[in-house]
Amino acid sequence: MKSTIELLEHTDFPAIKRRQLTILQVNMGYLCNMSCVHCHVAASLIVPR
Ligand code: SF4
Repeated sequence: MKSTIELLEHTDFPAIKRRQLTILQVNMGYLCNMSCVHCHVAASLIVPR
């Protein structure tokens, strides 16, 4: 994997700032009845196991 840290060190992109917590998500398992393409836990039922 190519390191990208050099690209991030010299940018004028505004710093990311944390805001107040408003939503807390707790994943209780690895199954979900949704099938979002961006799923970060591969919880969809269509993901092969
Ligand atoms: S498929 Fe993944 S991202 Fe979509 S609702 Fe379920 S857990 Fe969340």
